[in-house]
Amino acid sequence: MSARYTCVGSVRGCCEIAHKTIATAARCCERDQKACASLPGGNCYSDRQVVRILEDASPKNVYYHGHQLMFAYPLTADQIEELYS
Ligand SMILES: [Zn+2]
Repeated sequence: MSARYTCVGSVRGCCEIAHKTIATAARCCERDQKACASLPGGNCYSDRQVVRILEDASPKNVYYHGHQLMFAYPLTADQIEELYS
């Protein structure tokens, strides 16, 4: 199975979408950032980040147990670099 990505944060939770590329997942995270930033007060932000979903897991499984990411891997340094290049 090819890699799938989702957006998750310990506060905002997961978008529960299986994104096919890091780039589309990153755009989804950005949308959540903007949605948070437009809330009254203006000092709200989204803590969602792109993560890679475990092979046989669903994005609905992905969450933070404290600081521990469940059913997903953080992106590697290479993948993060690719995203911002
Ligand atoms: Zn997403």
